[in-house]
Amino acid sequence: MTISEFSEVAVPVIGLSEDDRQVTCRQCYSTMRAVHVAANGYQCLTCNALVCVMCGCTDDRACIGGCYWWLSPGICSSHKQELHELALKVFGGAR
Ligand SMILES: [Zn+2]
Ligand SMILES: [Zn+2]
Ligand SMILES: [Zn+2]
Repeated sequence: MTISEFSEVAVPVIGLSEDDRQVTCRQCYSTMRAVHVAANGYQCLTCNALVCVMCGCTDDRACIGGCYWWLSPGICSSHKQELHELALKVFGGAR
């Protein structure tokens, strides 16, 4: 999977709101805090796979329904709509 230009939007959103999120790596099934995954370069602390902090999918264990690229490091493509809505809330848009 490759990283898209969406990363400028996605990274600040995670930094603001994802502090206490837990993520379970789909590759090795260990659970860890998303902030620790982020600090480790969005790699699983146990198996070092690149892992999505939103849902725990990895390059080898994609989401059910499919995710095909990284929106940003740590966020797979299945969250595109979700992040777009979050980004609108955080970075403005209509009030
Ligand atoms: Zn893992
Ligand atoms: Zn995914
Ligand atoms: Zn995901």
